[in-house]
Amino acid sequence: MITPEPRELPHLVQDLHQRNRPWLPAGLASRLDWGPPVARPHTVLSCARLNRILEHNPGDFTITVEAGTPLVAVQQALQPHGQWLPLDWPWGSGPAGEGSGSIGGLVARGQAGGYRQRYLGVRDQMIGIHLLRSDGVAARAGGKVVKNVAGYDLMRLLCGSWGSLALITAVTLRTQPIPPHRQGLRLQGPTAALAAFSRWLLGSSLSPERIDWQRLGAAGSGAGPGADTLLISLASISAQTLQEQIACIEEKAGAAPGAAAGADSGSLLVHRLAADELAAAEAPSPGAGPGAGSDAAAGAAWLLRLGVRPERVPDLLTTPALAGLELVLGAGSGLGHAWGSAAVPVHRVEALRRHCREAGGMVTVLRQPGGSSIPAWLDAPSRPLIEAVKRQFDPKQQLARGRLPGVEPPGVAEPPPAG
Ligand SMILES: Cc1cc2nc3c(=O)[nH]c(=O)nc-3n(C[C@H](O)[C@H](O)[C@H](O)COP(=O)(O)OP(=O)(O)OC[C@H]3O[C@@H](n4cnc5c(N)ncnc54)[C@H](O)[C@@H]3O)c2cc1C
Repeated sequence: MITPEPRELPHLVQDLHQRNRPWLPAGLASRLDWGPPVARPHTVLSCARLNRILEHNPGDFTITVEAGTPLVAVQQALQPHGQWLPLDWPWGSGPAGEGSGSIGGLVARGQAGGYRQRYLGVRDQMIGIHLLRSDGVAARAGGKVVKNVAGYDLMRLLCGSWGSLALITAVTLRTQPIPPHRQGLRLQGPTAALAAFSRWLLGSSLSPERIDWQRLGAAGSGAGPGADTLLISLASISAQTLQEQIACIEEKAGAAPGAAAGADSGSLLVHRLAADELAAAEAPSPGAGPGAGSDAAAGAAWLLRLGVRPERVPDLLTTPALAGLELVLGAGSGLGHAWGSAAVPVHRVEALRRHCREAGGMVTVLRQPGGSSIPAWLDAPSRPLIEAVKRQFDPKQQLARGRLPGVEPPGVAEPPPAG
């Protein structure tokens, strides 16, 4: 892996271009190998030394950071100003965001967690981007002020590009004020009753920050291994508003905190969570803790990014294809992660993929056990367009060769159906 100084980067990329060398953009390399394998040999070019906060305008609620800056460092820099980036710690990070990787990696993967429900995803929070094209020429889109939308499409294109189009060198993002009051509620009960409750809550005038389905293992939610729970996060600038929302939810659940009841929503148990308990509950993943990241996630041989249309989430929760997998899924977005040990058979993951596709969604295989090689993703209907964009950005096909989102990775095509 090469970790150049910022001033060395353009020359280095130009040199790779002239020599037709395949290469892979990298941030802090915390999750570099997750997803389809990249054709070897290739040079890995890390942005770890692009780690400065270039500009923070608290009054304008914008921040410009170099791509290799750790997400946790950006949050720490914003915190004294009462601001934050409303982004989840990536799956496998520790409880305080250690192992969460770089801002560039976050943008390149383009994934989001439960905060997407209120704050949208990272692509919607970006207002500017700087990049190096595959020929080493610097380019930029957007700007540093929220109303500047020039180049909007280029930013969205790079978001979720998995390093296949260009090297992101810096991004400008919107910041948000940190809500001073935050509290959580965990609801337990039969899945059907929780689904009815979730439908009501999503359609109500209440405004939770997020509503996450969780199905966790033994040490997970305290609801018993494999039991479904709903984690509701509430945040407000007003303590009174927060308490009113909590009271309304508890009343609807038909229960005082910790007690069972609930005429119209089944027997739901409600537990209140203080802000620190909520923060820990919002980011479950195996081995989360100091030194987390891909090492800590080693216990999960399978790691799947999955999604269905939000109204199909209750169906998804009842599919036998989820057996043996733990799960976190946004009730409002239908997007989440599932993970499990190597004991989960390949055919079950394939059945889950079929189920999600029929429900208007997808499964991306981020990790899989040694010996199994199901495609990380399948062809998108827009494959020809995606390949045309790739040819424009990277005519020599140098970047992340073999890993182009929406194009089924070569060499692992599914066999044609029998008969
Ligand atoms: C809720 C949530 C869950 C997530 N879960 C996962 C997950 O399960 N698996 C996962 O892989 N990611 C996940 N992500 C994305 C995650 O944020 C990134 O994988 C992580 O930030 C990687 O950071 P890194 O610096 O270590 O990147 P790396 O591991 O170095 O690279 C990750 C990817 O980004 C590309 N990349 C990195 N930096 C740049 C750059 N400057 N320019 C262009 N491309 C670049 C690389 O080519 C590679 O494809 C999740 C994000 C969220 C918000």
